[in-house]
Amino acid sequence: MTTVSRREILQASALSAAALGAAALAAPAMASPLDHARMLPEGLPPREFAAAVAELRAIVGQQWVFADADSTLPYTKSLIPDPDHRHVPSGAVAPASVEEVQAILKVANRYRLPLWPISTGKNMGYGMATPASSGQMVLDLKRMNRIIEIDAELGTALVEPGVTYQDLRDYLDANNLPFWLDVPTVGPIVSPVGNTLERGVGYTPYGDHFFMQCGMEVVLADGTLVRTGMGSVPGSTSWQAFKWGYGPYLDGIFTQSNFGVVTKLGFWLMPAPPAYKPFVVQFDEMDDVAKITDTIRPFRMNNLIPNGVLIMGAAYQLAMFHRRADFWTETRQIPDAVVKAEARKRGLGMWNTYFALYGTDEIIAAVEPIVRGAFEAAGGKVLTATEMSDNPWFRHHASLMKGGMTLEEIGIVRWRGTEGGMVAFAPVAPAKGTETRGQTALAKEILAKYDFDYAPAYAVGGRELHHIIFLLYDKGHPAEERKADACVREMITRFAERGWAAYRTGVSTMDLVAQQYGDANRALNARIKHALDPNHILAPGKQGIA
Ligand SMILES: Cc1cc2nc3c(=O)[nH]c(=O)nc-3n(C[C@H](O)[C@H](O)[C@H](O)COP(=O)(O)OP(=O)(O)OC[C@H]3O[C@@H](n4cnc5c(N)ncnc54)[C@H](O)[C@@H]3O)c2cc1C
Repeated sequence: MTTVSRREILQASALSAAALGAAALAAPAMASPLDHARMLPEGLPPREFAAAVAELRAIVGQQWVFADADSTLPYTKSLIPDPDHRHVPSGAVAPASVEEVQAILKVANRYRLPLWPISTGKNMGYGMATPASSGQMVLDLKRMNRIIEIDAELGTALVEPGVTYQDLRDYLDANNLPFWLDVPTVGPIVSPVGNTLERGVGYTPYGDHFFMQCGMEVVLADGTLVRTGMGSVPGSTSWQAFKWGYGPYLDGIFTQSNFGVVTKLGFWLMPAPPAYKPFVVQFDEMDDVAKITDTIRPFRMNNLIPNGVLIMGAAYQLAMFHRRADFWTETRQIPDAVVKAEARKRGLGMWNTYFALYGTDEIIAAVEPIVRGAFEAAGGKVLTATEMSDNPWFRHHASLMKGGMTLEEIGIVRWRGTEGGMVAFAPVAPAKGTETRGQTALAKEILAKYDFDYAPAYAVGGRELHHIIFLLYDKGHPAEERKADACVREMITRFAERGWAAYRTGVSTMDLVAQQYGDANRALNARIKHALDPNHILAPGKQGIA
């Protein structure tokens, strides 16, 4: 811990103008045009901002506060459209301990400096590290990167925000611990903490990350430190073993919210099974998504298929390893016939459903004919490593369903144009064929109106699917950026008219999605927010909560 006395803080404040140099003081106010490399918080004069920066430097060290255009640049990088520069941070501060987080919050409260916490800041398709409104300072927790505890008997982990899935994988391997991780498709560079707090998903039987989460440590806006569940009991040995604790269950209010800074997170690890068998089922028509949904529903409900299943659209699969111009040079949406033909050349269907069976050879041998029979009866082609071992898409998904580390899917970001870009729209669908068919048709129609391609994946939970629609555009082309922004807003609005709302959204559409969850829901969130953070310094605007 860096202990900073009140006197030192005052001295640092007094020195601020000189110590900060021209960069912080010359920083333009929010309305200034400049190059949008950074923007100051609304209502905070440059001189006050500079004084706050000096105090933060006294807490974390000079080099861990980024408050000029050059050093803030990495935090401004985002793949989503932001044509009017509404999501530009004022800088970043990177603490190394809980005590430093608490001290930073004190400063932020005093100056009314809004802070946007991130873990590894790779929220790709949702805004990366950028805040819900310009001027917020990124609270970058990546220096807090300790794996605090792995319980090898219970298969539990307790980690800090800066730990990546790769760090954890390396630790398990180095210590010969027989556990699998469940990773999002960009696992190596992202964090269990950031992903779980966004209620992200992966593709083993432990794919619902918040479901597998157990115990948190949170710093509230006033600096109070809280441990959830059994973590509140002095000397408890079951913090990572029992989720619910006693009294109201609190962990949920710290996910997809701005009610606290999570400094530790517990979760469960999957025991490596003795046997594992991956499958892909291929269907050839866009409309077949209905049959796939209806076939898979009972197996997810009775857990015969235990993992987070992915139904991958052919355009998404092609975009992983190809660029649009390889197949189609017209501006308008790629016709289904072209997508289908290109997919077929590569041994892919129009829809490619990846699932796996886990356990022992005997269990897998007993379940496989039941599942295979159902898919074949629905018209699907069921394939395994025997036929697909050379197929790069099959290899990728086979690895993912056992928690493998890969960054191959990031390729989709460069589908279009010179710079590439993507924004995710992720409406929830109940696991009924009529619903997924309807969502697919509506998404295709709206995307076509704006000349964008339909590159979908459905991630199947128990009784619902997250329909992940990656809108791929060229951020290097300002008119296209604006069009992408309009298109995602139209999708959010028109899906909501049919009762389909997103489970998660990017920083530019948080308020729009919040509106769809209704006034009562928003008012309750606002009351909790005001009670916990009366100065509204933590991530204002996140999930539409001011
Ligand atoms: C090709 C591609 C594939 C993807 N696949 C998946 C996938 O399979 N599954 C999936 O879920 N996502 C996926 N993503 C989206 C995203 O990249 C991941 O969800 C990633 O894990 C989020 O980034 P992060 O872990 O760095 O979280 P961060 O960016 O650090 O955090 C996300 C948000 O959570 C909040 N937050 C983070 N840490 C804290 C904290 N300590 N206290 C309070 N609030 C905090 C902040 O609002 C922050 O903006 C994919 C993206 C791409 C481009």
